[in-house]
Amino acid sequence: MSQRILIVEDNRANRVLLRDLLEYHGYTVILATDGEEGILLAHSEIPDLILMDIQMPVMNGYSAIEQLKGDPETRAIPIIAVTSFAMPGDEDRLMAAGADMYISKPINTRDVPRLINSLLKGRESSEESENTLR
Ligand code: MN
Repeated sequence: MSQRILIVEDNRANRVLLRDLLEYHGYTVILATDGEEGILLAHSEIPDLILMDIQMPVMNGYSAIEQLKGDPETRAIPIIAVTSFAMPGDEDRLMAAGADMYISKPINTRDVPRLINSLLKGRESSEESENTLR
């Protein structure tokens, strides 16, 4: 059975790009367009991993990550934060919110599937995952 990834992204073009990319790599994709919908779907679907945009209406990625990581039901789901602004301190802020990993736009279509695969494998062996990412 294929692993399920929840994409939380308000921009339609980015959503479609990520969906097509991940489906091509064999994942089942669930889509949400803002943080609030993302949290609802994370609870109802319990995906294997979440790709979370940061700048979104209704509820931004920081708040959504904090809520998901503060909730025992969703805390174990790995989250990759996807952001278009790479300012000094952003990575620290995302990690403080509870993101497991951080990638910046534009989406690198070769790196993203590799990182997702590493993170999913890391749930079985975190040491192996860290080595894979170097
Ligand atoms: Mn956005």
